[in-house]
Order: sequence, then structure tokens, then C-alpha cells
Amino acid sequence: MKTYDAKDIRNVLLVGHGGAGKTTLLEAMLFTSGAITRMGTVEDGNTVSDHDLDEQRKGISVSLSMSPVEWNGVKINVLDAPGYADFIGDLRSAVRAVDAVIVVVSAVDGVEVQTEVAWELAVEAGLPRAIFINKLDRERADFQRTLDQLVSAFGNQVAPFELPIGTEHEFNGVADLLHEKADLYPNGPKAVESDWPEDLHAMADPAREKLMEAVAESDDDLIEEYLEQGTLPEEHIVSGAKDGFARARLAPVIVGSAAKAIGIDRLLDFIVEEFPSPVDRGPIEVTAKDGSTTERTPDVSAPVSAFVFKTLSDPFVGHITMFRVFSGRVKPDATMWNATQATDERIGQLFTLRGKEHESVPEVAAGDIGAVAKLAHTHTGDSFSTKENPVQLDGIDLPEPLLAYAIEPKAKGDEDKLATGLTRMREEDPTLRVARTDETHETVMYGMGEAHLEVIIERLKRKYGVDVTHRPAKIAYRETIRTKAKGQGRHVKQTGGHGQYAVCNIEIEPQPRGDGFVYDNRIVGGAIPSQFIPSIEKGVVRTMTEGVISGNPMVDIKVTLLDGKFHPVDSSDMAFQIAGSMALKEAVEQAGVVLLEPVVDLEVIVPDAYTGDVMGDLNSKRGKIAGMEQAGGGKQVIKATVPQAEVARYVIDLRSMTGGRGAFSMAFSHYEELPQHLAQKVIDEAQRAREEKR
Ligand code: GDP
Repeated sequence: MKTYDAKDIRNVLLVGHGGAGKTTLLEAMLFTSGAITRMGTVEDGNTVSDHDLDEQRKGISVSLSMSPVEWNGVKINVLDAPGYADFIGDLRSAVRAVDAVIVVVSAVDGVEVQTEVAWELAVEAGLPRAIFINKLDRERADFQRTLDQLVSAFGNQVAPFELPIGTEHEFNGVADLLHEKADLYPNGPKAVESDWPEDLHAMADPAREKLMEAVAESDDDLIEEYLEQGTLPEEHIVSGAKDGFARARLAPVIVGSAAKAIGIDRLLDFIVEEFPSPVDRGPIEVTAKDGSTTERTPDVSAPVSAFVFKTLSDPFVGHITMFRVFSGRVKPDATMWNATQATDERIGQLFTLRGKEHESVPEVAAGDIGAVAKLAHTHTGDSFSTKENPVQLDGIDLPEPLLAYAIEPKAKGDEDKLATGLTRMREEDPTLRVARTDETHETVMYGMGEAHLEVIIERLKRKYGVDVTHRPAKIAYRETIRTKAKGQGRHVKQTGGHGQYAVCNIEIEPQPRGDGFVYDNRIVGGAIPSQFIPSIEKGVVRTMTEGVISGNPMVDIKVTLLDGKFHPVDSSDMAFQIAGSMALKEAVEQAGVVLLEPVVDLEVIVPDAYTGDVMGDLNSKRGKIAGMEQAGGGKQVIKATVPQAEVARYVIDLRSMTGGRGAFSMAFSHYEELPQHLAQKVIDEAQRAREEKR
């Protein structure tokens, strides 16, 4: 593929709810442009963009894909981001690689949750947004209903540029409201210009009114003119519409059917003519080594700056790193400076991707998107520049993954394979977190939701050959005591051979929460030799770490060594450790164990309408509401402290409560006493597990 000038490049991201038709739309663009000779379908698993086996099996896109579409001398880099909440990481990083967004909405299903999420991300990034109403050929497709939903979700900036001609299976063309012309698609993806259909007026008049309003509202001068005259002249509508879109203040609505390739050539024309090129986008801000900010223009002669928006290991696509060049040019075999990781990376061959296919390119110049074979030290979100001119772009702002699965290889001996697989996947997916807890001896992976973690498990098996089981991660409880008690440890074995002799008396008492462990020796006059005093402590500490009855560590106690006995020959370090452990167990049994549970600070942000449900739910989860604040945009922030065990699956609970319109964060706060009936359950469970092990 040839190198394009920045002015002849468009970088576009398709977003929308899963199933709206993004994958099919990209396929239709490739078909319409002549890059492929027949259209694959999602059902047959033979589209250019869905290549992952997980995707083919599920019929959904679970990872970011890209394809360039060449149209009228312009290279349109189309990114297709997965439309499911669990894959928000890909969506957020893809937003960083493009200059405009196409929101794909199904005319059957209308505005859905992920449509709104994607819209907000594009707004935050200040990117122009166009809306493509898809599936107009489908039964129960309804243009007007979908348009109304769009207006009520996104406001008056939603501006119909086109209307469908014919409904459902008779949908066969597109009427252009701006230029009052009609395009029909009697055979294939190429439009045939025809007369404006007379019977369209009933739909066209209110739509044009809507369009005029949107244009007027996108510009201060135009709104004045509109308010004074009650209308806008044709040429002001056309120029105002273009300008409003470019400034991200007006969202054109265009229509079609991806599956039937209707309206796709018009969409491509629109992208070429109206979407901003990297040059129109202008310079971006970068941070120099000393922390100062400076700009980089999309100019091949400027120092190079590039942003890594995806790294991927896939048996079909291979191991690749995808990046957007914002300034300068990247040549094959160059050495780039990864400013984020502070390391050199040697770039090999450069290529562009068409789904799973690689196509070599001689360079990736300012404004363009390219890929290289996966680099050893580079992660999604890193920046490239040169050592002489080291600059960095902002990283990707990602929500914390909060659903935890404890995983374990099914086959003994697969631990290394599991560790390798997780490390690799962690590099390409910043929304995956992996932790090995010393305390619960589990490998825990944290993800954005069930679908996300299931895809990870599937990939571990397929790509890294390790089959894992998963269960909810254990809660890190603590044991402690509430009252003073005494205990004796007596480890005496003196029959035959070398004997063992150690006796100690201790007292335990509770310490203030968080004070940890205190050891106090009150032995005077050499009841036991001084070298055995630390032995007793060692035995006590070991038992505290393992936990006395529930398998959770004991904390916040003071142990006082009161007295002891020894034998000049049979006493040993080991014997006193055992005695110390026994003494602690006896004392704890006297005092009675109390369990502490971790409590988290939880911050939930939801649209006003859901606050009642969320608070009610938090109450039922033993939560304490700490406060509520207006967050702007019709949203509330609810702050609460809640036992961690109750919110281990809050990702799923909140999503089902709000239909995905809520977000939250949580962080460990402190330990609190677990109510007795719940503590008993934990203890019973631990005992059962111990017996099973035996
Ligand atoms: P994505 O999840 O947004 O990528 O959506 P897909 O492209 O996978 O499409 C979801 C389903 O809708 C698939 O079964 C497609 O064949 C179907 N589909 C997509 N676009 C159209 C369309 O314009 N018309 C019809 N009838 N079906 C479509």
C-alpha cells in the first residue's frame, strides 16, 4: 500500500452497542471500495474484522480490529472497537488513535447503553461524531423512532442529513436532505441517482426543520439569524452543517444497511469530504522530559511522536503492536524511544492490517496508523519518540478492574505456563490485573466483568495451552481476640532416645486495631534460658500467620511470656517453638476468636434516577452511606463503606441495577468485626476445606 499524505488520511473509529452492526459495516466498506469481492458475514465467521475464535464462537467482537479502506484517493483507517462494557479498555485506547467517531445504531434496537458510553467518551475526547443508523432493511426497523431516541439521548445536536427510502425489506435508497437528491441501490453497492420521491415530504419536512435547528444551535451567528428570520438560507445550512460537525457541535445522522451495502458509498464519500484529516485536527500536546508541555504538528519533518493504542497476541493476527503517528515518520528497522517505559525499541518491518492480514508499508508517516511485530517492552498506552527528542503523550485513563477470580491450572506443573500466559495478556490488555496473594495463596485475576474474564480463560487455554479452574477470590479475613486469656504450652516427650522438653505459660490480650503484634517477656531469674525466649515467639508468630481456627492470620494481640520450664538436655529451639504455638492455641481457645472482615470505601456514580435503588442495595449489603453529592450531568456520587465480601461482584450487581449506566471505584479502608453468625460460616468453611485436604 502506498504512503498517503496526512491530508489524505482519515482515522475513524466505529463505536456502538454490541450487535449494532459495526463489523458488518466495516465489511461493507471494504466491499464497496472493491478491496474484497464478496461480503463475509458475522454468522459465517468469515468477515475481515472478526478473526478471533472467541469472537467467531460468540458472534461478537471482543477485541479491537482495524482495516484501511481506500476511497477516492483517500486512505480511511477504520478501527472497530468492541461494543461490550467489559471491553471498555479497547474503546478508550482506540479513541486516542482517531480523529472522528462513527456511532453505529441499529434501527431495530435504537439507542442502547454502550451507544451512550461510547458517545460520552467521544465527547470527552472532543472528537467529531457522526451517527450511522443501520439495519434499516430489517423487520421492525424504524427510522423515526430511532431518530427520536437519539435526540432525547444526545440532544439537539443530532442532525438528520439523510432519510431512508422504503421501509424494512423494501428499503432501497437514501434521500439526501442537504442537497435534495436521492440515491437508489438497484444492484450492488453503487448508488444510482434518481428523483426525489414525492411521498417523502411528510417525513422530510420535520426532518429538515430538525436539521435547521441543529445547525442554528451549533453556531452563535446562525442561531441569531435563525431566531430573527425563523429560517436559514440553503447555503447557510450546508456550510453550517459542515462546520458544526468539524467543531464537534453537531452530529450528522446518516442512514443505510451494512448487510445490503446500501448507503455505504455515500458514507465513504462523507468521510472523505467532511471528516477531519490529521491536518485539520491540528497539533497535539506532548510532555517533554522535564515535565513541560509542547506541541507536535502532523508534519513528516517534525520530530517523531507516536502513541501505542494496542498490543495484541493472536494466532491469526500474530504478535503485533499498533500505533498512531502524530508527527514525523517511522521507518522500518528504526530504533524508537519508548518514553513511557524509558527504553529503546527496535522496530522491524512496518505494515498495515486488514483484519488478520498484514500488508507491508514502506513507512508510517504523520497522521497514519501502522503496526509492527510485537515489541518486547511496549505496552498499550505507551509513547514513542526519539532519544534526542523524548516526549510522551498522555497514557490511557482506565477504570480499575474489580471483578476477581482466583485461578489455578487444572494440571499440576502448568504453573509456569499460566504465569507466562498471564504476563503476555497483561501487556496487551491494561484492564486485566493479576496478583499473587501470599496470604490466601491464590493467583487472582481482576477484570472488567464476567465476559472479560471468560475470554481471558478461553485465551489461556487456546493460546498458552493452560486449562484453568476459577472460583471467587477469597476474602482476606483476620482473626483476633476481644478478652484476655492465659494458656500453657507443654511439649514433653521423654520416652526413648533424645527427648523433647519445653513448657511455657503465656497471657494474651487484645491490642487496639491496627497495632499488630506485641511480644513481652516477663520471665525473670532464668526459668528458661534466654536463647529459648525468641523460640517461643517464633512458634507464636507462625501460628498467628497461619491462623488459629479459620486459616486467616491473627492480628492485634499482645503476648506476654509469664513463665516456663526447661530441661538441660532435652530442651531445644524446636521444642520451644512447638510449646509457644500450643500455648497460643490454648489461650485463644479460652478467649474466643473474633473474625475481622475488610471494609472498602465505595464510590458509586449513577444517573439520578438510580440513586434510590443503589442506596437500598447498599443497605442490604451491610453498607454505611457516608454521603451523596451532585456530580453534574444529572448524576449523583454515593459514598459508602461496605464489607468487601458483599461487593465482590458489585460489577455485575451495579450493571444489572442500572443497565450499565453506573460506574464505581473502591479501595480498602479498614477492618471491622464480622457479625458472629457470619463468622461461624467462615470458620465452618475453613474447617471443611481443611478436612478435605486430609
Ligand atoms: P457488531 O457487534 O456491532 O460488530 O455487529 P455485527 O456486525 O456483528 O452485526 C450483528 C448482527 O446484525 C449480525 O447478525 C449481522 O449479520 C447483522 N447485521 C448487521 N448489519 C445489518 C444490516 O444492515 N441489516 C441486517 N439485516 N442485518 C445486519
